[in-house]
Amino acid sequence: MPITSAPVASADADLLTCVAQLVRQELAPQIERIDRDGVFPRDFMAHLGEAGVYGASCPAELGGTERGLTEVIVAMEEVAKTCMSTGFCVWCHWVCGYYMRHGQSEFLKREVLPLVLSGERLGATGMSNPMKHFAGIESLNLSAKRVEGGFIVNGALPWVSNVARDGFFGGVGRLQDGGDGEYVMFITPGDASGLTLGDGGQFVALEGSSTKSAIFRDVFVSDDWVLAFPCEPYIARIRPGFILGQTGFGLGVIAACLALMERANKRTGHVNCFLDDRTENLMPEYEELRARILRLADEIGTGDIEQMPPKRLLRDCVQARLDTSELALRASQAALLHAGAGGYRLGGSVDRKLRESYFVAIVTPATKHLRKMLASLDAT
Ligand SMILES: Cc1cc2nc3c(=O)[nH]c(=O)nc-3n(C[C@H](O)[C@H](O)[C@H](O)COP(=O)(O)OP(=O)(O)OC[C@H]3O[C@@H](n4cnc5c(N)ncnc54)[C@H](O)[C@@H]3O)c2cc1C
Repeated sequence: MPITSAPVASADADLLTCVAQLVRQELAPQIERIDRDGVFPRDFMAHLGEAGVYGASCPAELGGTERGLTEVIVAMEEVAKTCMSTGFCVWCHWVCGYYMRHGQSEFLKREVLPLVLSGERLGATGMSNPMKHFAGIESLNLSAKRVEGGFIVNGALPWVSNVARDGFFGGVGRLQDGGDGEYVMFITPGDASGLTLGDGGQFVALEGSSTKSAIFRDVFVSDDWVLAFPCEPYIARIRPGFILGQTGFGLGVIAACLALMERANKRTGHVNCFLDDRTENLMPEYEELRARILRLADEIGTGDIEQMPPKRLLRDCVQARLDTSELALRASQAALLHAGAGGYRLGGSVDRKLRESYFVAIVTPATKHLRKMLASLDAT
């Protein structure tokens, strides 16, 4: 039984066919080089933009298709089934456009967003640290100072993926003299004066995700590049889409692990049936989770939430994101136990899925962060 994702009513079948074809023709042949040599699939990322993947949350007048988050998640899953590192890059890219789409700047919407939606320029996000800061986990890394026509930003972000000097990424600065609660969220061009994109270090996976450090030394962010100031209400509005969007690359890893288990069963199914986690129990869990995620994605739609999203929606998104991390870890472990020594080979499919699945669980919001959010949502 091949692992094919269940059809989704509101996702465009043509887009999915197109993404699957791009994955087969352009991504699959380079996954080993992406994983081992850190090759970044720049052309593939651009071709997804041309296919319309990044514009699903945007109205046509801004260059989008208005089909909503469901379509983004389904396309991301399709990419991540073959390469989760690239699936994560799709999320980074999409969410940068999501910031601009819902931000206050007409300049960003008209001049910068179309370049990101088309894939001509890369979009990225430096929001791990702010998301953890607003959850009470760590202090904010970037400081901002109000000056004539904008802000001066200083500080450092250790990791920004899908980043390029000719691309753009989102971040948050805390006003030094603005008192508590004064935060500004903005987009920075990768070649801004005073910004250095440095070596992000070597990782056990995601070497091909173009992950770099970003050091801000008196970087001027003009008012045109500001997404929201003050930005806490804006972040609260985009938070459900930000969190749920990440499930796309997690679902892709789970689906790929299920396929690896089925492949292993052809040879050793007579003994794999004694394992606790098998396709018989993991497949229904994956299908239930995927259906739940796509229902929530349909509810978020294009993210045009005028008021604060209901607490119930945020809680359901956090739970779905946590369930995705946990199922990804179980599925990759089960894939290794099914494959045995064949799966233990360095650089093989199972080895890569194992390393990638841990990323689902540690990227912000990490498992510990999601559990903290659930605890505080349930306490209020
Ligand atoms: C491959 C990869 C790609 C990533 N891409 C992005 C991205 O695109 N955007 C983004 O915002 N974040 C990115 N991150 C960061 C990621 O989302 C998490 O914030 C990070 O994995 C730590 O999360 P944590 O909650 O487990 O924090 P912990 O591991 O508990 O760490 C707490 C904090 O300590 C600091 N820290 C720990 N180790 C180091 C180090 N070696 N150097 C500098 N500071 C350190 C960091 O500020 C970190 O947030 C990436 C991380 C990795 C490994």
